[in-house]
Amino acid sequence: MLARTIESLARAAPGAALLPIIHRGDLEFYEACKAGIEANLAQRLVAPVFGGATRQESIRSGLEALSHAPTPPEIVLIHDAARPFVFGSLIERAVSGAAAHGAAVPGMTPADTIKRIDACGSVAETLPRGQLRAIQTPQAFRFELILGAHRKAALAGAGDLTDDATVAEFAGHRVQVFAGEESNMKITTPEDFARAEAQLIAELADIRAGQGYDVHAFGPGNHVWLGGVRLEHDRGLAGHSDADVLSHAITDALLGALADGDIGSHFPPTDPQWRGAPSRIFLSAAAAKVRARGGVIAHVDATIVCERPKLGPHRNAIRESLANIMDVSIDRVAVKATTSEGLGFTGREEGIASLAIATIRLPARGAL
Ligand code: MG
Repeated sequence: MLARTIESLARAAPGAALLPIIHRGDLEFYEACKAGIEANLAQRLVAPVFGGATRQESIRSGLEALSHAPTPPEIVLIHDAARPFVFGSLIERAVSGAAAHGAAVPGMTPADTIKRIDACGSVAETLPRGQLRAIQTPQAFRFELILGAHRKAALAGAGDLTDDATVAEFAGHRVQVFAGEESNMKITTPEDFARAEAQLIAELADIRAGQGYDVHAFGPGNHVWLGGVRLEHDRGLAGHSDADVLSHAITDALLGALADGDIGSHFPPTDPQWRGAPSRIFLSAAAAKVRARGGVIAHVDATIVCERPKLGPHRNAIRESLANIMDVSIDRVAVKATTSEGLGFTGREEGIASLAIATIRLPARGAL
């Protein structure tokens, strides 16, 4: 969720630097998260600042860090990591709101009627809905204004202010409310998470299938590689790389689904750097291409055609290895094996053939 939020923010605010505020104990987790972020977006992140015991303390730590920068920002936007659906339209309103008013926050008119209740749970008052706003983030401020407000609240010992607008109000500033966005939800409960996943998958509506096929001939040797698993055998497979015929077929299926060439065009057999190379390199690179397009691998189904070695006992080890290389869960990877009843080159045990189909989902934007 953090990676998704950072990527959304970086895309929505193309000119901005991003300062993550994290818990001291989460540094390793943060670095792992950052490693999964698109490189051109991740380079906009500055080194993270460690937060404090409360949200308010954490934000103040971030603002103090910015105040020590060679050129502190003129305008700062403060955003929840739990709001991954932030778009450029909202950022533009936030920035112009802060520029015009000093302090501006996004708000939604509640769809439900809001009532205040008393200690017995009875309605004490029906609030005028037109005057109410549910406040979101990013909250936008002129930097000096919000830094000063946080310092003033800290000095006064006011430590229970739940958002930055409240900190600004505490310091005596007027806060303007601009239009928030329905999709900019905060993910708090398991139900929110399910709703967010549904929203994400709905965005990945460009569904594509690709096929792959490969053959390698038997030659001298004492093992074969299939799906990144080494299987002892009385012969080996001949090839420029490790001749992992299964991984090659799946790599081609993924590249086919992307309509992005084939394994030979990305990893030419004439290139000496691929001599004896483990084929996991090719397969993980193809999977990374799917992710780089903002997509996911929905399913991979592969068949290996050979008389020997017998593959049944190794099926799950091969599935696990493939899932690991492509970074998907094992229930999205099917591996089947068949003989060709003694017929043809596979039947004569001259080599092994493999077929694969990959189904991927890409963002629908621009596809329809
Ligand atoms: Mg091959």
